[in-house]
Amino acid sequence: MIAIVKKLNLYKTTTYKFKGEKMSLPVVDYLKLPEGGDPYLEGHKCTDCSSIFLGERNVCSNCFSRENMEAIKLNNKGKLYSYSIVFRSFPGIDVPYISAIVDLEGGGTVKGNLIDCDPDPEKIKFDMPVEVVFDDALGRKDSEGNSYISYFFKPIS
Ligand SMILES: [Zn+2]
Repeated sequence: MIAIVKKLNLYKTTTYKFKGEKMSLPVVDYLKLPEGGDPYLEGHKCTDCSSIFLGERNVCSNCFSRENMEAIKLNNKGKLYSYSIVFRSFPGIDVPYISAIVDLEGGGTVKGNLIDCDPDPEKIKFDMPVEVVFDDALGRKDSEGNSYISYFFKPIS
């Protein structure tokens, strides 16, 4: 089995906004890059039933309450709920990689790639603790040369 070793330059909060310089943009709307703060994933919590969802929504999927959703910062730690090892993907995407679903501490379920872990079922355990880390999205840039910041899951040893 091929070992995947990624060198992570874990995102330093002081580097993503320089006036006049190329910026790093979040790859999805629910990845927040607050100026002077650490990156985080945003969820919405229903103030009626306390259900928590990734991203933004106006109606609670649990109790169907409307207009009672408030934005919250999701936890950066969680447990691996499920995964798939992907052997075939779009052209230019390195395989194999691990596509994972993680339940975050305190609520919220997030899909993303599990890194720093061999794509070997013997080494991936359900419920193993993981953390959310933020890094450059595989070197991709938009037409203006701005890079993207994405999130990944990493096993906590
Ligand atoms: Zn609700």
